[in-house]
Amino acid sequence: MDADLEDDLRRIIAAWGSEQALYEFLTRQASALTTAICGANVPVPGIQVVPSFFAKGILGGGPRRSGEYEPASGDISALISLFPSTCGNEGTTRRALAHELIHHWEVTMPETAGDPPYPDDADSAIAGPFSDATREKRWRNGHPPRFIGKASVVAQMLGISLQHMLVQAQHRSRQR
Ligand SMILES: [Zn+2]
Repeated sequence: MDADLEDDLRRIIAAWGSEQALYEFLTRQASALTTAICGANVPVPGIQVVPSFFAKGILGGGPRRSGEYEPASGDISALISLFPSTCGNEGTTRRALAHELIHHWEVTMPETAGDPPYPDDADSAIAGPFSDATREKRWRNGHPPRFIGKASVVAQMLGISLQHMLVQAQHRSRQR
């Protein structure tokens, strides 16, 4: 087995005892969080944990993501991919899952006047983790104000800071 893959597996076993235990946690959380974030009628995305080298490969030298979201397409259901570096404990895993489920909400729920507003504290929460404006701008391209408004509500629901909900996990994993 590749050294990176061995590292991934060792990390998962150390944190969860087995891959199965991690997947059971993810399955339970995905179901509960999809209902809480998107509503009861939205299908739960598939969840997979993918090797860490996917994260490096996708983004080259940029900030590493804690996960990826692919919307449903035709008969293929939506899919969330998380990286082993994100799944170090229940808190970071739940947070990364919730972040990707907000992307699911963006895609599955039509925009309405009742969507949460862009929060006052968002600009400072977002600027902090980025080392330069270009990186922040690139991040904002994938995370419009509607996403950030919803993230603020979800962060409060989960009892975590808006910064952690948005970008802190990515920033930290980049420096690992
Ligand atoms: Zn995102």
